[in-house]
Amino acid sequence: MPIKAEMRWFYPIDWPQLSNHVRFERAGGVCQRCRRPHGEFVCCLPDGRWYDEARQTWRNQRGRPARWPDIEEAARMRQTRVVRACRKFFPRTICEPVALCRTCFGTTMDRNSAVWKPIQ
Ligand SMILES: [Zn+2]
Repeated sequence: MPIKAEMRWFYPIDWPQLSNHVRFERAGGVCQRCRRPHGEFVCCLPDGRWYDEARQTWRNQRGRPARWPDIEEAARMRQTRVVRACRKFFPRTICEPVALCRTCFGTTMDRNSAVWKPIQ
């Protein structure tokens, strides 16, 4: 995800290389929160569950196995392509970049409670 021009100075000069290292080497090509694979098309439900084609199972928003959808839930299923981005958390003084898909990119993690919350 491109950095806005006005935010460029909050990132280190080698951010593109650091971002690539985090997304493709450290994270192993998957979202670090939900485990969705980069570049793949996945089936998603409105509650965030997604179908893991490699493991032949449904997963929740944290990448853990989830129950299969019933017929009503399956009718609302959509397909999306996973694109991961590297995110630096603000306003922390020590920022650890993480690789997140677009769905997870809009959330942030509170380290103290280990709960992901929407950005306000
Ligand atoms: Zn994700």
